[in-house]
Amino acid sequence: MSAEHSVFPDDNLPEGSVVDGETLERAIDETFDFVVVGSGAAGGTAAWTLVQAGYSVAIVEEGPWVKTREVDRRVFKAFQRAFREAGTQVLLGNSIIPLLQGRCVGGSTLVNSAIVWRTPDDVFDEWKKDWGLGSVITEAALEPHFAAIEEELKVHAVLDEALGENNRLFVDNAFKGGFVGTRMRRYETGCKGSAQCLTGCPNAAKQGMNVSYIPWSLRKGARIFTCARVDTIDIRGGRAVGVTASSSHTNPKFAKKVPIVLHARRGVFLAASTIQTPNILRRSGVKNAHLGEHFMAHPGLGMPGIFDHKVDMHFGATQGAETIDFRKSDRFKLETISMQPELAATRIPGVGRELVKRLTTLPHAAIWVVQIRAKAQGSIRPTFGDRDLVRYSMAKEDMVAARKAAALIARLLFESGAKEVWPGIHGVPEIIRSMDDVKLIEAAALDSKNYSLIASHLFGAARMAQSERDGVVGLDFSTHAAKGLYVVDSSIFPTNLGVNPQHSIMGLARLAATRVAASPLAVAAA
Ligand SMILES: Cc1cc2nc3c(=O)[nH]c(=O)nc-3n(C[C@H](O)[C@H](O)[C@H](O)COP(=O)(O)OP(=O)(O)OC[C@H]3O[C@@H](n4cnc5c(N)ncnc54)[C@H](O)[C@@H]3O)c2cc1C
Ligand code: SF4
Repeated sequence: MSAEHSVFPDDNLPEGSVVDGETLERAIDETFDFVVVGSGAAGGTAAWTLVQAGYSVAIVEEGPWVKTREVDRRVFKAFQRAFREAGTQVLLGNSIIPLLQGRCVGGSTLVNSAIVWRTPDDVFDEWKKDWGLGSVITEAALEPHFAAIEEELKVHAVLDEALGENNRLFVDNAFKGGFVGTRMRRYETGCKGSAQCLTGCPNAAKQGMNVSYIPWSLRKGARIFTCARVDTIDIRGGRAVGVTASSSHTNPKFAKKVPIVLHARRGVFLAASTIQTPNILRRSGVKNAHLGEHFMAHPGLGMPGIFDHKVDMHFGATQGAETIDFRKSDRFKLETISMQPELAATRIPGVGRELVKRLTTLPHAAIWVVQIRAKAQGSIRPTFGDRDLVRYSMAKEDMVAARKAAALIARLLFESGAKEVWPGIHGVPEIIRSMDDVKLIEAAALDSKNYSLIASHLFGAARMAQSERDGVVGLDFSTHAAKGLYVVDSSIFPTNLGVNPQHSIMGLARLAATRVAASPLAVAAA
């Protein structure tokens, strides 16, 4: 069925359920049981859980709603509309690492690859032993939440018809590298293998929050305020009682910001992501020595290999194969990725005629990547305008892991039949052509400036701890500073994970919202 004839889950929403800040002319002042800030993995899950429990819910989202029928596979257009700062954010430290985040309804789930991983056992153990979270966050407590989300969002392994050659090559050849390659499990129903998850799913197959929990919540009575940026959480008498937001316009006709005040009778759920949550708390007057500290990530890097036969990355699940065999021993996870030509082209070596010639080899390219469970910690502070300043430098041991993984990927690409590999590491030839050349990667300098790193898995910065002395958020998910101010994104994670974070974030958000819904604070005085 063509897009013109399909009805997508984000079409035909109840009248009045979406208030678009982009065209808002009158100030808003309304009251709900709960206000949820952010409509991504954490916010979408919290909202859907609260709505199902019978509460009135307002969701506030800074970005626009990019509807399925508007999805544009051109990277520049998509980045401008759906990514924060059009995809130009960075982590600043001893090198500059690009940072990607969605800024739209669905948050990063509109632009991500939908890979699902339950929180690993050793992370639960660590959180219990080292961080004292064992009375709240356990495998047993999260199990029903993971199971419910997996059922609702149709989690399953990539099917044959959407596998594609990039993913198949990895799964079939992993044994040659001495490890097990598996198909990813993803939130999707009817994936057509269009390999464009990064610019949004044109088929509404990927079960991002924009086509699942958000429209489901609106159909059950919730309302969403889009293009509405929360400036502060309003705290009165030590309790969160609402939010103050303002509309954000791109249309000059509506240049003036319009105030949006939403009162929360029962509490506010903050789910604006690890990067934005700390500065929202700061702007709202929350003070804590750990606020904005302990920021962690899984920085990654990718490497193309060129095969004699066509790989045709434009077909197949965007990310469909992986191994976690090195997660514990070496702190990294290997994955496949397909990139649109505009993005893949940024990794082509050479200039002029040489570059043009290599562009024609892109249909023969497979790209495999690593995500590093880095030990480095950084910080988040406010800076000019609406921006967040993230300081972060890779530790030496993180670079040892990055280099080892890069060599492993190059080796596996050759084992799988690649004729050329483009390492993208300064100091190593732009093109290597044999297994012998992989030694050049193994001997590469460990300076992070030499590597093409990128970050999209983010943690910490408002961590959970029993006492205010050790963290910002208590074991009841509410900040130590104010009651009823629940933080449910991965800023509360005391460590990173070593697996893709969305499922852990959603599991925790569902657990938190379920507990709060069962015993909410008494209605706040007007
Ligand atoms: C390109 C990419 C690919 C990824 N692939 C995967 C994957 O396959 N599997 C996986 O597990 N993880 C993946 N991730 C990571 C995963 O998407 C994130 O960890 C997860 O979405 C974070 O959830 P969140 O709710 O904290 O933040 P987000 O999903 O980013 O949502 C936060 C929302 O809050 C909004 N917001 C922020 N500040 C304000 C404010 N002041 N007022 C109102 N709204 C605000 C933002 O605009 C945003 O929409 C990927 C991430 C990216 C960027
Ligand atoms: S790969 Fe599948 S889930 Fe991703 S955009 Fe294409 S059809 Fe949608």
